[in-house]
Amino acid sequence: MSVFSHPEFDLHEQVNFFHDEATGLKAIVAIHNSNRGPALGGCRMWNYANDEEALTDALRLSKGMTYKSALANLDLGGGKSVIIGNPRQHKTEALLAMMGRCLESLSGRYIAAEDSGTSVADLKIMGRHTQYVAGITERAGIDGKASNGDPSPATAYGTFIGLKAAVKQRLGRDDLQGLSVAIQGVGNVGYRLAEHLHLAGAVLYVTDIHQEQVDKAVQLLGATAVSAEDILALDVDVLAPCALGAILNDVSIPTIQASVIAGASNNQLAASRHDMMLKERGILYAPDFAINAGGIIDIFYDRVGHTPEKVLRHIETIGETLAEIFRRSDTTGLPTGMIANTLAEERFMGR
Ligand code: NAD
Repeated sequence: MSVFSHPEFDLHEQVNFFHDEATGLKAIVAIHNSNRGPALGGCRMWNYANDEEALTDALRLSKGMTYKSALANLDLGGGKSVIIGNPRQHKTEALLAMMGRCLESLSGRYIAAEDSGTSVADLKIMGRHTQYVAGITERAGIDGKASNGDPSPATAYGTFIGLKAAVKQRLGRDDLQGLSVAIQGVGNVGYRLAEHLHLAGAVLYVTDIHQEQVDKAVQLLGATAVSAEDILALDVDVLAPCALGAILNDVSIPTIQASVIAGASNNQLAASRHDMMLKERGILYAPDFAINAGGIIDIFYDRVGHTPEKVLRHIETIGETLAEIFRRSDTTGLPTGMIANTLAEERFMGR
């Protein structure tokens, strides 16, 4: 297994491999870049088919975190950790405790947050052995309600702000009254986004594979239920992907009727060329890692101490960053995803 010549290796500063025989822990911690500050990113536990797959995830996702945090103007670098194993079978308190000790040995160069296969409760166990875990403090959330560290309300609010910036750019309007929005996935983020949009007067179309989520949006927010097959090609103003990655692809893009795509899902573009394909079709795409940064902003302030007001003001800068991306895309003719990458690089390189 190669590291320095791995296809996903891109000037990563440090890649750590941890093994503990007694607990069965096998983990990789990748630190992509720390120019702006300590590398913060999720700790994922996954039943990887092999070590190569785990390394690929750690290298790719840690780089993504550098770009996301830089674009959000946070004093954070990018990192990611992966624990190799089935979270349902192999996750034990002893293994999590050992992971905490491993993180502590990195002296704060990497800070872990919850991710697929790990929960806030798991991070709290790690946190008994290291100070370098984030998003586990019980505190006042951005909505003023008690929060256990779940970043979804912040992600949803940031996505709402970003959606408004995209609507202003593409449709030339400040208000959302009567604006039609199709939301794919009304889970933790998608449902809260739907609440913001409903309050702002938007007309909602929703789908989810969990029927009770759809029913709730229909009953409480006046949404119209749509089948999972039809949601992407609906004749609406805005498409908000809040479920899955890779949904913007060769098959879906030619069928999309919305002129704005603004949603929280990670990795929406199946391949980087789909960025240009959207631009050529006149569809304004709000790059996912720009619009969904509310959660990482929330986690950052969880560590440094904050008032909900301060977090809200920072999340609102997502709108300004997107406006800058859209302006540059217009003047250069380059697609928004490419512009977002360049803007992120300007914000973390050479510091
Ligand atoms: P979630 O699991 O709570 O919600 C996702 C919803 O999508 C679920 O209700 C699920 O049933 C539904 N879904 C799955 N497959 C579907 C399909 N084929 N068609 C329709 N619905 C489908 O997850 P979440 O926390 O709301 O995150 C949503 C997306 O946003 C994910 O891509 C996630 O990576 C991304 N994201 C989340 C956060 C956060 O703070 N939670 C931060 C950044 C990015």
